Amino acid sequence: MTSLSDLPIRDDLRGREPYGAPQKHVRVELNVNENTHPIPDDVQADVLGRLAKAIAGANRYPDREFVELREALAGYLGHGLSRDNLWAANGSNEILQQLLQAFGGPGRTVLGFAPTYSMYPLLASGTGTAWVAGDRDADYELSAGRAAEWVRRTQPDVVILCSPNNPTGTPLSLDVIEAVYAEAQGVVVVDEAYAEFFPAGQPSALTLLPGRERLVISRTMSKAFAYAGVRLGYLAADPAITDALRLVRLPYHLSALTQAAALGALAHSREMLAMVDEIKVQRDRIVDGLNALGFRAYRTWSNFVLFDGVADPREVFDELLAEGIIIREMGIPNSLRVSAGTEAETGEFLDAMARYVERHG
Ligand code: PMP
Repeated sequence: MTSLSDLPIRDDLRGREPYGAPQKHVRVELNVNENTHPIPDDVQADVLGRLAKAIAGANRYPDREFVELREALAGYLGHGLSRDNLWAANGSNEILQQLLQAFGGPGRTVLGFAPTYSMYPLLASGTGTAWVAGDRDADYELSAGRAAEWVRRTQPDVVILCSPNNPTGTPLSLDVIEAVYAEAQGVVVVDEAYAEFFPAGQPSALTLLPGRERLVISRTMSKAFAYAGVRLGYLAADPAITDALRLVRLPYHLSALTQAAALGALAHSREMLAMVDEIKVQRDRIVDGLNALGFRAYRTWSNFVLFDGVADPREVFDELLAEGIIIREMGIPNSLRVSAGTEAETGEFLDAMARYVERHG
């Protein structure tokens, strides 16, 4: 059988591992930070109507500039943004890839702060950009001083700040972004995939955009919007940034079906986001429940919780899986990550953890 190493593959891809969240279908799936609540029936019906219209016209290429969608995304974000500030792609993974294609690439570097989203180094390698892993303060927090010092020392072409950080959940304060931007010569990307789960009233990095033409805020409909299967990520930035991305995007990269489905959800954004407060309640319940069981949950502004104090993460993972519950092993010693589910799913997870502690002391 031919193996990958037999192929004339690029040297810099040899020995690499693909993105690897296990795709197991079990009763309670809390492993990839999805919104586990179903899409409301009336929204489904509206989206289906739009998809039917889109398919009727699918003999033609879709709007390459997805103008209506950019308009709707600008309306959703507010902050005085217009469609010229908006760009979208097939998931925020593709947004990040396009940013690295345009602003990273061979001979260039991208700085992130580990442990962070595991796709960053993979997107870096795919685009031939060298990944530079900065570090964090205690409890995976990131201070302005440390972050700016990494920028000063490594002079990266791109910086990715994950706010809140995956897989730790830890928030990023705006002064870190300001300090990094002031120090950086290159593009500063703030990945706000989980921004809708911020505590009420906490400002988004969108408030920092005016006057910062190298700042990019990346968002997604995969998390709070319960739309992971549709693949719609987007960004807000200076219009010159979106012009740069036009140089690297594939023509017609957003299918007519994707555009129609995204527009349908945005037309019902309040309803689509109705479960966000409930998910935050379940997230806080996980934090309290795990702490009461003797684990240590990190501070989180997202829809997931990283917790420490697990003597044998693989054993916990396997025993939960045997009960039909999947969570995530991140390769962080003594730690596991779990997404907040519905009230019932969260209860099943916490009950299973309590039984585990009882069995193993
Ligand atoms: N950024 C972060 C921090 C994430 O956790 C994820 C999904 N796990 C993504 C980006 C990508 O999400 P999507 O491509 O579905 O928008």
